[in-house]
Amino acid sequence: ADKPRAITSRTDPRFEVVLYKHVGVEGAHTLAYYRQHGGYEALKKALTGMKPAEVTDEVKRSGLRGRGGAGFPTGVKWSFMPPVDGRQRFIVCNADESEPGSFKDRYIMEDDPHQLLEGMAIAGYAIGATKGVLYIRGEYYRAYERLREAIAEARAEGLLGRDLFGSGFDFDVILHRGAGAYICGEETALMNSFEGLRANPRLKPPFPAQAGVYGLPTTINNVESLASVVHIISRGADWFAAMGTEDSKGTKLYQLSGPAVRPGVYELPMGATFRELIFDLGGGVTEPVKALIPGGSSTPMLPFTDDVLDTPMDYGAIVKKGSMLGTGGVILIPRDKCIVNATWNLVRFYAHESCGKCTPCREGISGWMTKMYQKLVAGLGEAGDLELIEMMAENIKGKAFCPLADACLGPVLSSIAHFRDEYEYLIAHGRPMYTRSSWWKDA
Ligand code: NAD
Repeated sequence: ADKPRAITSRTDPRFEVVLYKHVGVEGAHTLAYYRQHGGYEALKKALTGMKPAEVTDEVKRSGLRGRGGAGFPTGVKWSFMPPVDGRQRFIVCNADESEPGSFKDRYIMEDDPHQLLEGMAIAGYAIGATKGVLYIRGEYYRAYERLREAIAEARAEGLLGRDLFGSGFDFDVILHRGAGAYICGEETALMNSFEGLRANPRLKPPFPAQAGVYGLPTTINNVESLASVVHIISRGADWFAAMGTEDSKGTKLYQLSGPAVRPGVYELPMGATFRELIFDLGGGVTEPVKALIPGGSSTPMLPFTDDVLDTPMDYGAIVKKGSMLGTGGVILIPRDKCIVNATWNLVRFYAHESCGKCTPCREGISGWMTKMYQKLVAGLGEAGDLELIEMMAENIKGKAFCPLADACLGPVLSSIAHFRDEYEYLIAHGRPMYTRSSWWKDA
């Protein structure tokens, strides 16, 4: 079957497409194409003309914030690495893109894998790591194949391996596939999984810089963050920082899914509004919409109002509206979709993906919350159930070992806050307010 193609704003003259410039171009994944378009020049510039600390400073000055979802300043994270002391150090790329609604890293890896490898090598140089670990979600098989080919090509041309560009810096990448568990995207679970252990999260602190892969100094960054580094080094921190808002700099890969005319991935300067993404670039909606999830399933849903649509999509502005930018994966929820069922769909996902290590998540999400939603969608809800869910959420929030349980509470609490009438209708009538689909009969 045809795979869905990434759509970029390449054709829109208002925006410069940076990370996705070559995505969708036939043959762009090859080293020959990449080098013809200036590939590995940024790495050469860093290795032959900059000290590692200067590279970190440049990334700090650019204002780049982590694109995995949390928005932690990338250069600041790099500077947490302890002084070089002879121990092996690692740069890890988190390519376990598993957040529902997120599919931006995938196309970088499929269509422009060398961009990511170059970013990893630059980051490795900055933090003194000669080994890169690229942990890719198991389902991304095409991306895995493309990366495997790209690594082989780069090794053959001396762009990975020993003494890169005659600088004395050695760097190579280990490509590691996950096996389909969402928790492996949590950075410490990812490292456990890479080491061959069960993918349970580790306690933080210590953060990875102190004790990461095999307990050694490690920095872990998302695919989009590392790809951005290539352009920051080649074009300078000032160029990057000139795009975006005071709070969030550069361009961002936003993803649009649900009933949009043109769903896909759009690269826009940070701070573009939801309206620009959904209506100007996405072509609008194919049916009435009542809510949007701004940044992947973990981020609380917001009502589809003019006020929300005019909100800039940066890290700070969405927080003020009660949600988060997350991965920038915007999911539209149709008006005629029962909100309780839509939320149950997500609760079921988190319940299935809970690693079971801590009680609030194992018993709270996979146990209690699941049973409550099963009861509601079967039309068996009773007065007091919403208060019980809210009380359970209060007892889970902030008490789980890692962010997974709180992530599940995002859609639960926001859907109750904004669409309580739909929950109450379902409880009172034993059937949903919106019955376009017959899910409730066989739930
Ligand atoms: P976090 O805020 O705990 O950490 C973000 C990064 O900053 C980590 O690398 C962490 O080590 C570092 N960090 C934070 N505080 C630090 C400190 N005091 N000292 C040193 N380093 C520090 O967030 P998280 O748990 O890594 O991620 C949560 C986010 O992940 C959510 O916002 C969600 O949007 C996103 N997410 C993304 C996906 C995906 O597929 N991309 C999947 C699930 C969740």
